[in-house]
Formats: sequence, C-alpha cells, structure tokens
Amino acid sequence: MRSIRLFDFVEGEAIQVSREIASIRTKADGPNVIFIGGMHGNEPTGVLALAHVMRHVKRLQPLLKGNVYALVGNLTALERGERFIEKDLNRIWHAEHVERARKRDYHPTEIINEVEEQIELWGIIDELMQENPGPFFFVDLHTTSVKSVPFITMSDTIMNRQFSNKVPVPVVIGIEEYLSEPLLSYVNELGCVSMAFEGGQHGEAESVQNHEAMIWLSLVYSGVMKKMEIPHFKKHYEQLLNAAKGDRKVYEIRYRQHIAAGDIFQMLPGFVNFQSIKRDQPLAKHNGQTLRATEDGMIFMPLYQAQGNDGYFTIRHIKRIWLYVSYLFRGLGLYRMLRFLPGVRCYMQSDEMMVVDKSIARWYSTEILHLMGYRRKKKYGDLTLFIRRKYDFRGPGKRPTSNLQNAEAGKSKE
Ligand SMILES: [Zn+2]
Repeated sequence: MRSIRLFDFVEGEAIQVSREIASIRTKADGPNVIFIGGMHGNEPTGVLALAHVMRHVKRLQPLLKGNVYALVGNLTALERGERFIEKDLNRIWHAEHVERARKRDYHPTEIINEVEEQIELWGIIDELMQENPGPFFFVDLHTTSVKSVPFITMSDTIMNRQFSNKVPVPVVIGIEEYLSEPLLSYVNELGCVSMAFEGGQHGEAESVQNHEAMIWLSLVYSGVMKKMEIPHFKKHYEQLLNAAKGDRKVYEIRYRQHIAAGDIFQMLPGFVNFQSIKRDQPLAKHNGQTLRATEDGMIFMPLYQAQGNDGYFTIRHIKRIWLYVSYLFRGLGLYRMLRFLPGVRCYMQSDEMMVVDKSIARWYSTEILHLMGYRRKKKYGDLTLFIRRKYDFRGPGKRPTSNLQNAEAGKSKE
C-alpha cells in the first residue's frame, strides 16, 4: 500500500500515512463510521488527528460495536501540501463519475491524479457498503484558510440534524447547492448521515485538537462506542463547546461569490469566519470591481489563499422555531401542500420535484421549499427546479445503492 511521510507538527516527528489510517472491523453488528482527512491536501490537521485518535481506538477495539474507518482523501496532494494536483477531489462526486471509478472505466489518458485517488478511496468505501447493512456515518475533516471557530456544514436532512444537534458547534446548511459534487452530497443521497467538520484554520494546533474532539464525539453519537467507554469524553465535548464559544445555532447559506479561472479576486483584509456584515459593506475586489454585501448577515469562508473558486459566502441565522416547524411539517408529509403556493407547481406530476416561477412566487417560496427538505437543483431563467431529498428521516434500511446501480439492475443484460 502506498504511503507518504507527513510531519506531525503537534508531536514534532515525521509519521508514515497510508490511505487507510485505520480500518477497524468488529464482528458485532452496528453502525459504520467513516472519517476522511486530507480531502484537500493543504489541510493535514484532520489526518494528524485521525492518526492520534485511531492509535487509542485500536486499543479500545473490544468495546466497539460496528466498524470504524479512517481514510485519507487526496494522498498525493497531502504529500505536496497542496489543495489538489489537477482537480479538486471534493468536486468530482457525480453519480456517473463514481460509477466509472467503481468499474475503473477510464481511458488511461483520463486518469489524472484525482481520478486515481477517487478510484482508491471509493473502492474502500464501496466494499464496506456492499458488505454492511448500515447505517453509515461520514465525517469529513477540513480546515479553512481563514481564522474560524469550528463548525459543521451539511445537507438539511432530519438524520443529519439529529447527529449534528449533539455536537456543540454552529451548523451551516445549504452549501451543497453551491458546491458542485462534493463527496458528502453523494453519500447523503445514498441515505447516509454525512457532514463536513471544519476544525479551524489550516495548520493550527487547535484545529488538530478540535478534530480529535469531533472524532471522539462522532464515535459516541453514531453509536459505535458509549460515552463512558471513552477516556475524558467530557474534556473533548468541552473542547468544542469552548472553541465554538457556545454558538450552536443553525445558519443557512444566502449567497456564494464565484471565482472563474483567470479572475483576479482579493478579499478585503481582516475578515474572520462568522463575522457580522451590513448590507452594502465592501467585502472584496473582483476583476477591478468592489463587491458589496447584498443584505445584512455574516461572512462565511472568505478566501485568503491562492487556490479555490469560492470567493466567500454570506449566511443568515435560522430560528429554532422554524427548524422545529419544518421537522413537524416534513413528518406530517405537508410538503404535498406546496403546489398550492402561488408560482409553485409539481414537475412531471410528482411532489418530489417542484418548479418555482420567481416572476409569480412570493420571495419566501425558496425558504419554504428548503425548510420542507427540498434542495435547489437547476435554474432556467425565472424557473428553478427543486428536488426533495429522498432520505430525510432515515436511510434506505438496506445497503445504499447508487441510482445508476438501481437503473442498471432494472436493465436487461445485453
Ligand atoms: Zn477542505
């Protein structure tokens, strides 16, 4: 197995890291937790935290119920300390690509580094999924280029909420509508609980501590271990509670500033994550023009590094009452009433897909669709297509299969 040398700046020594930092399989039936570190090669702190925690978890193996995997995302990029080599590994998880990776259905000229990384990474995950009934929990460990409190980003499913509610950090929902094909959206649509945990700023010792704490908490909240079986559980919990300064609110993404290849983008200096901003406040310079906030809110993930095409996001706090109302309405199946809203209609006679006509619909229609568990899929002029997430309250109950595999199963063999 390929392995790389990585300098552990916390312990002051070089360590060897391979794709599988740990794959701990127990005979007991139970949940499967899959941790990923280094999906971006310039974010080694998640990998270091996994290396540290897994040493202990291996010793605690007899207590485990289920399976624990700790995997490295982009091994080559991690070795070089770069976000990616040719393509962002966290933007290529389209069902079709995953299916090609699964079958290794690539012409040799198409195999760039990230395709190779995807083939290896998915090979391990897919094997686990084929052999296990689930449930599956994915925790993808990242850091940000800017100083930040730790936080979670995820799709707004009830399954994800139930897990993230327990972690004492802020949660940001809706980012998957702006990012193309991150791994977590793909596995979420297979019915897995999945979230990205941003531990803090790149390369900080505190980010490693936050990642370690999140790993321990995830082992408990997924049901693989019991709180009492983990030494110093309370200390890990308090690590995150204090690092996040007690903020456990849920925020939604309101805006994303895109940067195209060749654009000149510069964030104005001094922004930190979750900093309050006012409408019309100057935020960045983009191809010689000043970008300003379109509404009051908070700045989120401002870009202060060379690579990446998300300039910044803006977010807004969602009140708990709305989260509760949406939980209730989804549970009662009231999303079926959405078609009676002005400017909203079913697409192909299905409640699962809705088309919103912005020229007729009220300004709040998007908010209501989001709260009802729909995600924005595509925009055609005034029309926007929304799709309801298939697995909201629970997963498929058997091993998740991709839509393509389902479609294939229905096809007769040639
Ligand atoms: Zn990242």
